[in-house]
Amino acid sequence: MSKDKTKYVYFFGEGKAEGTGSMKDLLGGKGANLADMTSIGLPVPPGFTISTEACAYYSAHDSQYPEALREEVLEHLAHLEQVMGAKLGDSENPLLVSVRSGAAQSMPGMMDTVLNLGMTPDSARALAKKTNNERFAWDSYRRFMQMFGDVVMGVPHHSFEEALEAVKQERNRKIDTELDVEDLKEVIARYREIYKKVVGEDFPTDPIDQLFKAINAVFGSWNNERAIKYRQMNDIRGLLGTAVNVQSMVFGNMGNTSGTGVAFTRDPSTGENKFYGEYLMNAQGEDVVAGIRTPATIDTLREVNESVYNQLVDIRELLEKHYKDMQDIEFTIQEGKLFMLQTRNGKRTIFSWLRSQVEMVEEGLISKEVAVSRVPAGEFNKLFAPVLDGDEIEKEGVKQVAKGLNASPGGACGQVYFSAEKAEEMAAEGKDVILARIETSPEDIGGMAVAKGVLTTRGGMTSHAAVVARGMGVPCVSGAGDITIDYRKGTMSIDGQSVKEGDFISIDGFTGQVYFAHIKVRPSEIVQVLNGVMKAEDSLLFQNYNTFMTYVDEIRTLRVRTNADTPADTHMAVQLGAEGIGLCRTEHMFFGGQRIVSIRKMILANNKVEREKALAELLPMQRQDFEEIFTELNGLPATVRLLDPPLHEFLPNDHTSRHEMALQLGISVDEIAQKTAQLHEFNPMLGFRGCRLAIVYPEILHMQVRAIVEAAMNVADRGVEVHPEIMIPLVGHYKEFLYTKKQAEQTIEAVFAERGKKISYKLGTMIEVPRAAITADEIAKSAEFFSFGTNDLTQMTCGFSRDDAASFLGPYVRDTDKGFYEYDPFETIDVDGVGKMVKIATELGRSVNPKIKLGICGEHGGDPRTIKFCQEVGLDYVSCSPFRVPIARLAAAQAVLTK
Ligand code: PEP
Ligand code: MG
Repeated sequence: MSKDKTKYVYFFGEGKAEGTGSMKDLLGGKGANLADMTSIGLPVPPGFTISTEACAYYSAHDSQYPEALREEVLEHLAHLEQVMGAKLGDSENPLLVSVRSGAAQSMPGMMDTVLNLGMTPDSARALAKKTNNERFAWDSYRRFMQMFGDVVMGVPHHSFEEALEAVKQERNRKIDTELDVEDLKEVIARYREIYKKVVGEDFPTDPIDQLFKAINAVFGSWNNERAIKYRQMNDIRGLLGTAVNVQSMVFGNMGNTSGTGVAFTRDPSTGENKFYGEYLMNAQGEDVVAGIRTPATIDTLREVNESVYNQLVDIRELLEKHYKDMQDIEFTIQEGKLFMLQTRNGKRTIFSWLRSQVEMVEEGLISKEVAVSRVPAGEFNKLFAPVLDGDEIEKEGVKQVAKGLNASPGGACGQVYFSAEKAEEMAAEGKDVILARIETSPEDIGGMAVAKGVLTTRGGMTSHAAVVARGMGVPCVSGAGDITIDYRKGTMSIDGQSVKEGDFISIDGFTGQVYFAHIKVRPSEIVQVLNGVMKAEDSLLFQNYNTFMTYVDEIRTLRVRTNADTPADTHMAVQLGAEGIGLCRTEHMFFGGQRIVSIRKMILANNKVEREKALAELLPMQRQDFEEIFTELNGLPATVRLLDPPLHEFLPNDHTSRHEMALQLGISVDEIAQKTAQLHEFNPMLGFRGCRLAIVYPEILHMQVRAIVEAAMNVADRGVEVHPEIMIPLVGHYKEFLYTKKQAEQTIEAVFAERGKKISYKLGTMIEVPRAAITADEIAKSAEFFSFGTNDLTQMTCGFSRDDAASFLGPYVRDTDKGFYEYDPFETIDVDGVGKMVKIATELGRSVNPKIKLGICGEHGGDPRTIKFCQEVGLDYVSCSPFRVPIARLAAAQAVLTK
């Protein structure tokens, strides 16, 4: 057999590294940056990284290693032992290592980690002697047993926790650090029994055996359920697997001069340029993240060890200059000496993204292009996140009951539940829920995802709850330690006040305040400034947003319009940067007040005369709506689509409403039932709708076109520029377009003649029927614009009903093994199918009419991945709902940068 030549293991230590910072795909983010930090001279404990390729091999070969891997690991271990002058598990001079996962994209807490590996009773004794710290040695052994047993061998975590708690109680110790050597030995004896009972063999004392078992566990954890779920939720695709970092241990639990911490080079919540972090003295590894003890803030470290603090401050500056972005670091202090365990680009809120990137541009650290390329477009809507209504708090005299940490921004009000399952169940019933937990763990993410807000009573800013909620954009208050949650009773209390499951509470993730009350939730600061409720100069958030959007608009070439049918939506969209209306669905204007009565009269009409009478009632209402919209647009173009849905959508379904309608119209309920039955279609989305309505009843088209043109002329008469664009829906054959176009032109000419003047306008069509897409050259000869209606185009190209596909489409999309569709095709354009239609139509259209304007107005128009596609195909604009306009602007700019 030929020997596998692939290099799988990369060493780092003593200022040199085999890997580099650019090898993230192969070494994972953690491994690449450990190599990088070593090379730039930072104090990194030496070790080696096993590549993601080895993990991919392991996953694909039924948990077998590549042939050469074992040997390569042992060679690197020997090198590490030589550098450290110690031997793994030795009874004289023991080396201990950590074994940690680390994929190319960070997946905090999702995969396995083992610390203190190499511990045996002999090495514990040796360590006690060497460090002159017996307690430390046995505590490390205890921690190792617990972690190894739980993570590597699947012994339930709680069995160990219960044994530890039992010893603490029996010996009257309140906190872990009060356990002395004898106590710890007792804990270890109990752990040993638990291990043997569950695993069926003794706890391993061969350190090499421990090492390979741990490596297997890390590789295996790549495909554990929560890692898979995390990748799905965060759209992490195409990675080989996790790397494994084996690194010599440094100890934060060697007494009061040791400690461990996590820090961010800027505030991950607000983005403020200040050193931000937490640490715990006499603690190890995951203690800070796990939220078991509430840590101290980084500035207080100066009093504990000024030189380490100063060193960290220097490292903070150096890392930001090196990586040119905010870093999230992990460090350990071992007996007064600082070690760096990790650096990576910090996860942060969208608020922090905006502020940090704008300030970095202003500091000259990065270009505008870099800033724009980094800010996650998918998160942008959180900028418009709600806040608790301060006026209501003041007016009602609502008092906060507790204050925790402002872990994830946004105000939330809802009914409180104490388990993730219950929260999910209640959210499914349509309730606004707040999930309150003592602390959260990865099992809780389903409940966190559906919650309006998350509250925990334990844990810091970097606890699981805080990190995950921030990532999800769910408001979160963590570490509200004065509150007591009783899971059994289903209550939460503080100072004699208490709430039970299902009661309303409110939390403020901007300030950390908790209220046992229902408080109204108000729109975001940006929305308030845009609405004129707040002044721009009073909102730093708005200023950063505004500055950032100027970068975005300098870069993008795609135009962004909005789908809006009301003056209010139009107003908001223009405030948010819409450059016109890409789709005004006129039918949405037909529902309110007197309009629905008139449209029903029109539908029930028995002949053209009756129909025209009903349409004459509608004309002034439509004209008024359009006038308001043109006024709001103030010179921006508006694509107004003629009536599209099947007519029966305007008729009532239930008996009571039919009765009401009968009274209103002075006809019998039977007549309504009869007409409804007549209009019934088995397949209405493929039925009597779109331009088919205008072809059968041209008088509907005449009324709508008249309303649009008269409104435009009235507004123009007031000195406001207008650009009406009349759009025919659901065209499949160019003759349908020619016919409706001619009808529209007759009306327009008539209005011009009546008024003795003209205005300019455009006439075009939607491309939403596959036939239209593949004959677009014929249509484009007479159309001035196309707007891709990708909702219907997806429905008709894939054959998925827009209204019913949800029942099976979920599994189609989520089942990554089958991978039929990468994304929900109604959300992100199916590039190879529907996208191909768009591409063909674009090319055909431009081949006969190079000046034709092309846009998209299906739901896809606000989806960042689709926007990238639109840029590639060369559309002129995308159109989306008002609140997605900023996302679309950003995604359009990013599409230019990734070209
Ligand atoms: C479409 O089909 O994509 C579209 C925008 O029209 P509607 O959703 O109104 O059918
Ligand atoms: Mg449509």
